[in-house]
Amino acid sequence: MNQQTIRNNLLEIMERITRAAEKSGRKSSEIEIIAVTKNVPESVIRQAYQVGLRIFGENRIQEAIPKIAALKDCEEITWHMIGHLQSNKARKAAENFAMIQSVDSLELACKLARIGYETDKHIEILLEVNVSSEATKSGVQPINLVSIAEKIAALPEITLRGLMTIGPLTTDKKLIRKAFITLRQYFEKISLSGMFQRNFNIISMGMTDDYDIAVEEGSNMVRIGRGIFAERTAQ
Ligand SMILES: *Cc1c(COP(=O)(O)O)cnc(C)c1O
Repeated sequence: MNQQTIRNNLLEIMERITRAAEKSGRKSSEIEIIAVTKNVPESVIRQAYQVGLRIFGENRIQEAIPKIAALKDCEEITWHMIGHLQSNKARKAAENFAMIQSVDSLELACKLARIGYETDKHIEILLEVNVSSEATKSGVQPINLVSIAEKIAALPEITLRGLMTIGPLTTDKKLIRKAFITLRQYFEKISLSGMFQRNFNIISMGMTDDYDIAVEEGSNMVRIGRGIFAERTAQ
């Protein structure tokens, strides 16, 4: 993996994001790219940083912590936790990540709030929503979403910045689009409730295989792994 490959992959992704953003009446600058670095070694992450990527997503605490430590000299780097977080690793996550996108229960949110209180640290989170209630997937069930958001709104140590979802595992583009539309509708519902003010502004959806659909449907944060780090981009 060399820097040129990453740069070319990224340019193609940015072009596709620009086109998808235009379809939803937005500019590509409104869409944040998270480079997902699970299974990507530190040396390659460093090259991605040199290409200009700044926010990196990791799925597992054990894998992430040594990489985060090794890349401390990259001053503008920011890390997001995007994988399922066990409650006994919440403290490590809070110490190492700027944002935890994968909060999937009120219990975990409360635990993070308690850690925030004890460590005098403010923690930013997204609520992961299991939009299509797939049994194998983590995330809060849509039916519980608003009540969980209301309770989180009352916790001063954490800020709910928005919602996250993983698109359904299918090649049916209609089903994928439907899931993304649904997440955006939940986002708008919570936004309009006025529970959170302007800092409730992130819709994290879209990965290598479906980010254009996600951006067309309102995503402003895509999480891309293979598309950036694979030798050849998909398609
Ligand atoms: C792995 C992963 C991604 C990136 O997936 P790609 O298909 O490699 O782009 C995004 N979000 C989450 C939660 C992931 O686990």
